[in-house]
Amino acid sequence: QSFDELDLSPVMRRAVAKAGFTKPSPIQGELIPLALDGMDVIGQARTGTGKTAAFAIPILEQLDPLEECRDPQAIIVVPTRELADQVAVETQRLAEGVPTEVAVLSGGKNMNKQLRQLENGVQVVVGTPGRLHDHLQRGTLRTNNVWCVVLDEADRMLDIGFRPQIERILRKCPRDRQTLLLSATLPPTVQRLAESYMHKPTVIDC
Ligand code: AMP
Repeated sequence: QSFDELDLSPVMRRAVAKAGFTKPSPIQGELIPLALDGMDVIGQARTGTGKTAAFAIPILEQLDPLEECRDPQAIIVVPTRELADQVAVETQRLAEGVPTEVAVLSGGKNMNKQLRQLENGVQVVVGTPGRLHDHLQRGTLRTNNVWCVVLDEADRMLDIGFRPQIERILRKCPRDRQTLLLSATLPPTVQRLAESYMHKPTVIDC
């Protein structure tokens, strides 16, 4: 399979080539078309499979420009601060050629900087459950325009005990949003979360 078969915009094809990706990884080949179709997807995938680009590419392809929408359109929830930074860097890299505002909302980072960023307008938010929940409580993270939520490393987030925060985030986002769930394993806890908050998800195993 090649990226040409994935129906990407010319600017995304250039960004992917510039990132040095020659062909889609298995998860990318399966997840990108489903996500572009608006489906909910459960992807069983470990780190190193290219899962970040698999959800970042369809999100970036469908973002409205900042001038049209200043509130977040996609929220990517990850278990750790380090992963939040990595996902944001990878997303920004794939946004090459299109001005894109990505904010990292993770714990231990300067709250004022995050507030300023949200105030200035943000298209994609990458964050850890605790800090995202904190912003929801303060009313500083607006979710009315969110059309995609990604739960990355869902099994790990539930192991850490983030279930209440994740549920709060999902309940706050519009019902007709898209939900993409990535997880190395699919234990009953992850399946129950998917049953409660996802709409007829397609399961892919890569
Ligand atoms: P991830 O599984 O998302 O942590 O990605 C692991 C590494 O693979 C990252 O450094 C990505 O930039 C890289 N990567 C992702 N997709 C591809 C691809 N299609 N071809 C080559 N490298 C890739």
